[in-house]
Amino acid sequence: MSRVYNFSAGPAVLPESVLQEAAAEMMDYQGTGMSVMEMSHRSSAYQKIIDTAEEDLRSLMGIPENYKVLFMQGGASTQFAMVPMNLMKNRVAEYIITGQWAKKAYQEGKLYGTAYAAASSADRNFSYIPDCSDLPIHEDADYVHICENNTIYGTKFKTLPNTKGKPLVADLSSCILSEPVDVTRYGMIYGGVQKNIGPAGTVIAVIREDLITEDVLPGTPTMLRYKTHADNGSMYNTPPAYGIYICGKVFRWLKEFGGLEAMQAYNEKKAKVLYDFLDQSSLFRGTVEKKDRSLMNVPFVTGDQELDAAFVKEAAAAGFVNLKGHRTVGGMRASIYNAMPMEGVEKLVAFMDDFERRNRK
Ligand SMILES: *Cc1c(COP(=O)(O)O)cnc(C)c1O
Repeated sequence: MSRVYNFSAGPAVLPESVLQEAAAEMMDYQGTGMSVMEMSHRSSAYQKIIDTAEEDLRSLMGIPENYKVLFMQGGASTQFAMVPMNLMKNRVAEYIITGQWAKKAYQEGKLYGTAYAAASSADRNFSYIPDCSDLPIHEDADYVHICENNTIYGTKFKTLPNTKGKPLVADLSSCILSEPVDVTRYGMIYGGVQKNIGPAGTVIAVIREDLITEDVLPGTPTMLRYKTHADNGSMYNTPPAYGIYICGKVFRWLKEFGGLEAMQAYNEKKAKVLYDFLDQSSLFRGTVEKKDRSLMNVPFVTGDQELDAAFVKEAAAAGFVNLKGHRTVGGMRASIYNAMPMEGVEKLVAFMDDFERRNRK
């Protein structure tokens, strides 16, 4: 067996111990004689898996009683539509445009009503987070939507926007469980799990109960109503059963790691190794404003496209894979999610240092 250091933005690296456990349980899950993949979601064995996953997530994030936890399908992109279908009662919403995912959510919102771009950082290719302390939030806005960590551009909201009393709806796909959050500051949090938690397809939503109502936009399909999932314990239909099982293992891994405070401290240490290197390098440089840097996604360039391509190629040959940046930013991007060990970041930096020596201009 030979594992690489996988810097993919998503689907992304998972803890090795979780993969090993899943492998060990593949043929016979705890004496049931079958894989979780083959198991009825109505069985008591599966009910225990999903209940434990929810319980562990609640304790990790400190989710209050008046918030529901939903496990759904369709990834984060389906939430771009479910959010307006369920929450846009006045058909008005505010979106803060800090990157491509934020923009996709905004464009989807426009299908259902008036979506305002309350702020944007498009003027400088999304390399910063705009000041959101005093936005022109409309009186009748149903919610304010943000993408909290911008996976492609590598920026992160360090302070949440002032929503002027409107519920904050946040896409946390690429930073969920990377650090503690104060759930009470949000009306709703959602995230596709394939960045920091598990296999693609599953999406987790944490929603304040008063926002889950029958009063949805006309024509909203049963499967796209939060109430359907909330009333049925995320099992109105067959849930993404195997995905939730892996998520549950990652929640357990995080608890054993020491919870989200410990994870945050580790993530800060890891990111610092990479950012400190970039800040002193004469070849590589980070592409975003320092104050807005993400702990999870680190884009960088050399300024020379041919050299960037050579770096990505040589790095892959040395076992550091998926470092090519998104086509809209170019250059490189190292995604250093929870499961990326410090050793992977240190070795990447050593490789970058060596590459720099060999290619100094
Ligand atoms: C990856 C990502 C998405 C899209 O997730 P899908 O599961 O592919 O729909 C949405 N938002 C953010 C912030 C992401 O990183």
